[in-house]
Amino acid sequence: MPVSGSPAPVEVDTLIVGAGFAGLGLAIRLQRERRGSYLVLERANDVGGTWRDNVYPGVACDIPSHLYSFSFRPNPDWSQFYSPGGEILRYLQDAARDEGILPRLRFGAELTEARWDADGECWEVSTTAGAFRGRTLVVATGRLSEKRVPDIEGLGTFGGGVLHSSEWPDELELAGRRVGLVGTGASAVQLLPALAERAAGVVVFQRSAPYVVPRRNTMFSSADRAALAADPEAAQALRRTLFWEAEAGFTARIRATSPLSRLGATAADHLRAQVPDARLREALTPDYEIGCKRVLLSDDYYPSLSRPGVELEPSAVVRVDRSGVIAASGHRHELDLLILATGFTSTEPPIAGRVRGRDELLLADAWAGGMVAYNSTAVAGFPNLFVIDGPNASLGHNSAVHMIETQIGFVLEALDHLSATGASTLEPTRTAQDAYVRELDRRAATTVWTSGGCRSWYVDERSGRLTLLWPDTASAFREEAGRFEPGDFVRRLAGGGVAG
Ligand code: NAP
Repeated sequence: MPVSGSPAPVEVDTLIVGAGFAGLGLAIRLQRERRGSYLVLERANDVGGTWRDNVYPGVACDIPSHLYSFSFRPNPDWSQFYSPGGEILRYLQDAARDEGILPRLRFGAELTEARWDADGECWEVSTTAGAFRGRTLVVATGRLSEKRVPDIEGLGTFGGGVLHSSEWPDELELAGRRVGLVGTGASAVQLLPALAERAAGVVVFQRSAPYVVPRRNTMFSSADRAALAADPEAAQALRRTLFWEAEAGFTARIRATSPLSRLGATAADHLRAQVPDARLREALTPDYEIGCKRVLLSDDYYPSLSRPGVELEPSAVVRVDRSGVIAASGHRHELDLLILATGFTSTEPPIAGRVRGRDELLLADAWAGGMVAYNSTAVAGFPNLFVIDGPNASLGHNSAVHMIETQIGFVLEALDHLSATGASTLEPTRTAQDAYVRELDRRAATTVWTSGGCRSWYVDERSGRLTLLWPDTASAFREEAGRFEPGDFVRRLAGGGVAG
C-alpha cells in the first residue's frame, strides 16, 4: 500500500534496470513482440550505458562493429571496422528512438531498493524518480558502470585534479600540464596517444604490462556501405564470418598450444617492431601468460610511449601527496593531473546491495563469495529476477552483444513459460544453480584466467573464482545457457501453491 500522500507505484509486467545494450536490447524485443507492459529505469539522462559514460579521447570498441551491434538491428553504415565510442552511442540512441522505446524510458530513475513482495508476488522498486511495481525485474546495469578507484594513500590530498577515465569532462585543458596515467588496461591504452600529443608530459604507471597486438583498423568507403545496405544478406554473412573468426581465438584461452603461442608471437613481434629501445621493451614485456587478462589491440600505444615527454613508470602508484605521486619503485613524480584508468567494480556490482529477494535475502549477501546464477541469468532465492551481463556472462574473445542477446532469449523464454503455464513466479532450484556453477568452476580450472599468473578483474578476489567470464565459447553459451529448462525451476501458482 502506498504511504498516504505518496503516489501509488506505477505497475508494469516487466521492469528493466539500465538502458545500455542489455536493457535496450530486451526493451526492443518486448516492444517488437508486444509482450506486455514494461518500463526501463535509467539513472542517467540518456541511453547508452558505458558508451554514454566513456567519452575520453580515443574511446572505441575493439570488437568489430558489424559484430558489436544487435543481430536484429544491423547497421550497414558503420564508418570503420572498429568504430569509435560516439558512433556506438549514436547507434543505441537511434535504436531507442526508431524502435519506439523512448516513451517507456524513465530517466533520472536510480534504483535505491528493490524488494520481492511475496504476498503480492511482484517486485517493489523504489527509485529517485518514484516507486514502481513489476511482476518481473531484469537487472541490466552492466559490468562497466561503476568506476573503481584504487585505495591509494593520500589520493584525496593531491593538489592537482584527479579524474576517472569514465568521467571525462566536456572540456579538459591538457596543454602545459604534466599528467599521470594510472593503469595499462583497454581504457589507458586507448587514452595515452591523445595525452601524449596534447599534454606537456605524461607518466604512465604500469603495475603490470599488458599484451598488445596490432589493431589495423580500416575505414568503410561509401561504396562498401552502400553495398551492405543494398544486400542485407551480405551484412549477415559478414557478421557470421566475424563471429566465427573471433570464436577461433578461444582456443588460446584454454591453452591449446599452437594458437596460444601464435598469439604470443604476434604480441612479441608487435613489441619488437614498435619499441626500438631494449630497456623500454623489457619493461613492457608481460610476466604472465598471454590471455590471462584482456589482450589489447593498438597500433599507437607503444609508439606513444617512445615519444619525448612520455615516461613509463613500471610500478604501481602507492602514495600521493599535494604535488606528486610516489610509485612502488620509490620514484616520485611531480604532476598536475592524475587520470585513473583503473577500471570498474565488475565482480562486486553495487546494485546487489539494493536488491532483496525471498525472506529479505540481500543479493550482495547471496553473492558474498562471488556472483553466481543459474545459466548466468537467474538467481536462487530471487523469484522472477533476471540478471543480464552479470555472473559468468562476459567474454575476452568475442562480442558481448552476442552474450547479451543469448540472455535476452533466455528471459523471453522464461516469460513465455510463465504465460503458458499461468504460474505467477519462477525461481531456479539451488540444486540446478549449484550444478551449473560447479561445471563452470571445472571448466575454468584449465583456463589461462585462473592459473595464468596474473591478477585480473575476471576473478573475484574474495574467492579466487572466475565469476565474470563464461569459460567457453560464445556459441557454447547460446547452446547451454541460452535455453530455458522448466525442470530446473520451482514454479508457484498465484496464491502460493507450488506447481508440479
Ligand atoms: P582494467 O582493465 O580493469 O584496467 C585497470 C588498470 O588499472 C590495470 O592496468 C591495473 O593494473 C591498473 N591499476 C589499478 N590500480 C593501480 C595502481 N594503484 N597503480 C597502477 N595501476 C593500477 O580497466 P579498463 O582499462 O577501464 O578496462 C575495463 C574493461 O572495459 C576492459 O577489460 C574491457 O572489457 C572494457 N573496455 C573495452 C574497450 C574496448 O575497446 N572494447 C575499451 C575500454 C574498456 P593491473 O593490470 O596490474 O591490475
